Amino acid sequence: MIVVLLGPPGAGKGTQGERIAASLGVPKLATGDVLRAAVKAGTKLGLDAKAYMDRGDLVPDAVILGIMKEALAAPAQANGVILDGVVRTVPQAEGLAQVVKELGTHVDVVLDFVIADELLVDRLSGRTTCETCQKPFTGMPVGTPCPNNDGGTLIRRKDDEPEAVRHRLTVYHAQTKPVLDWYVAQGANVQGINAVGSFDDVFARALKAVGR
Ligand code: AMP
Repeated sequence: MIVVLLGPPGAGKGTQGERIAASLGVPKLATGDVLRAAVKAGTKLGLDAKAYMDRGDLVPDAVILGIMKEALAAPAQANGVILDGVVRTVPQAEGLAQVVKELGTHVDVVLDFVIADELLVDRLSGRTTCETCQKPFTGMPVGTPCPNNDGGTLIRRKDDEPEAVRHRLTVYHAQTKPVLDWYVAQGANVQGINAVGSFDDVFARALKAVGR
């Protein structure tokens, strides 16, 4: 099953996506994770992407389409994949449709996490992230050793500073919101879920929306 997760930054796509993936027995692909790993490793991809990411801007479509093509071949052809933040512009949605078509498959569900902007600035500004495993945590100060005991330390992502968060929300409304309309116009199976509530409640809604 191929599931596209849509929704603003901080809506919970990452953590919920991980649990949905585990529950469906498929991998999760997050372009944000791929890009951050490239920045950390200092590869050309990372060097090209870093300035966009730090500002909270989108990395150019051509870069994302390259990652999609490379990363999707195996999982999309096997049991499927959960795509977290992979599709953020209409050209990316069109590109993904083409990639999966060439692989002989299609997007099964588009899951849209619905949450008000006001809740997101607080949520993201209070979030710290492990520099090693990239897991986000709330209520844990910068410098705390990662609770996963992977030797990493919790940091604040540059793009989780309040100014960058506000910019990311503006970018989301201008460039990613139209993706939802695009999928609706394509007749895709679009499921909106209320992303406000406990982790377990939102997870239950997400599972129901993907038909489990
Ligand atoms: P995320 O971890 O999903 O919040 O992504 C962090 C940053 O990576 C975003 O703010 C963008 O700069 C970049 N990024 C991740 N995925 C994409 C994408 N599909 N298109 C463009 N930029 C992306």
